[in-house]
Amino acid sequence: MKGPISQEGVFSTPTGPAAAATSVPRSTASEIPHPSWIEIDLQRFRDNLAVIRRQIGQSRLCCVVKANAYGHGLVPMAQAASVAGVDYFGVAHLSEAVCLRRAGIVKPILVLGAIHEDQIDDLIRFDLEFTVSSAYKAQLVAEAAQRHAVRCRVHLEIDTGMRRTGVRVESALALIDDLLKWSCFDLRGIYSHFAMSETPNDPTTLRQIEQFLALKEKVGPTAQSIIWHLANSGGIAYYPDSHLDMVRVGLLCYGLSLPHSMSALKLVLSLKSKISYFKVVAANEGISYGHTYRTRAQTRVVTVPVGYGDGYRRDFSNKMSVLIRGQRHRIAGSVCMDQFMVDIGDKEAYVGDEVVLIGRQGNEEIQLSEMVDLIKTDPREILCHFNDRIPRIYTAHG
Ligand SMILES: *Cc1c(COP(=O)(O)O)cnc(C)c1O
Repeated sequence: MKGPISQEGVFSTPTGPAAAATSVPRSTASEIPHPSWIEIDLQRFRDNLAVIRRQIGQSRLCCVVKANAYGHGLVPMAQAASVAGVDYFGVAHLSEAVCLRRAGIVKPILVLGAIHEDQIDDLIRFDLEFTVSSAYKAQLVAEAAQRHAVRCRVHLEIDTGMRRTGVRVESALALIDDLLKWSCFDLRGIYSHFAMSETPNDPTTLRQIEQFLALKEKVGPTAQSIIWHLANSGGIAYYPDSHLDMVRVGLLCYGLSLPHSMSALKLVLSLKSKISYFKVVAANEGISYGHTYRTRAQTRVVTVPVGYGDGYRRDFSNKMSVLIRGQRHRIAGSVCMDQFMVDIGDKEAYVGDEVVLIGRQGNEEIQLSEMVDLIKTDPREILCHFNDRIPRIYTAHG
């Protein structure tokens, strides 16, 4: 099936038993074959959740699945986490929470983002827990609760330093009193969010913890019936004092560990594709838009059908490497919207060969951290960029 390297681009059309090896995966959503895919190992995800459980002791675990579960697929990840026994789900928006309810997720779901007046009816209707972070929002919720004749399960957000949403510490006590007093509220939780928790021993983070604990102290004995939560991934890894009654974990459960902590975590996602074209290019030829790469000698160039239209960043042009036949090769020229080229020198490769953009192949590995270091961004941003054009394939190899 694998013929000699030709001078022209040849799309092989294999037949017989070996054909399965070069057929492209099918999107679970559409069943339409596509040449690139994101492979998600649910066993690794479950193992990561178990590692986090050990780290947090008796605290509840809220699995944060906002932004399509950091690019991994909202519903499949929530289903896996649900079976693995997480206590709560955290999402940013009402729309994400509704998606989970419609998919049959019955565990508590906390909508973390600020709510809007026209969302309150649905927050109630879909049995969601949501965030109240001002007296004004509390008033709006109270009116809706009376209309529906229900008690709303709410969490009060306190701003201890993030300056994003949340009531100021100074005004918190009065609002807590109201939320406890008014029968239309079931005050399930009080929480705050870290601004700097990915640095150990950070003074700002220590001050946030101190302020949050001081508030809990002031609330007195009634504080016992409320879930106090503060830690995100940084808090889980570096600030055990912040674990409290529940942690909200995103980053770590997808296998992105922070330096010098929880090294047992494994990256859940791999990004793979297949060579779509092969050609030989003469010396001193430019490659891709703008000819930002020039060949030094006659060389072999392959095309990979992934581009910035899939969320594979254009900033990777001429910088990131991929794995082909267990060897690293650098991207040659600009990443296009739907594809990019790789100069493989005198190495061998065939149309249909697997290309690993993130993950392992043979003894080599492309780590997400390489991308992070290269373009100086947060790993979450790279993960969130991968959009629905790339099918997600779920496995459980461990
Ligand atoms: C996104 C988010 C989290 C999860 O943060 P990670 O650092 O990825 O674990 C937790 N809490 C809130 C309020 C968030 O917005």
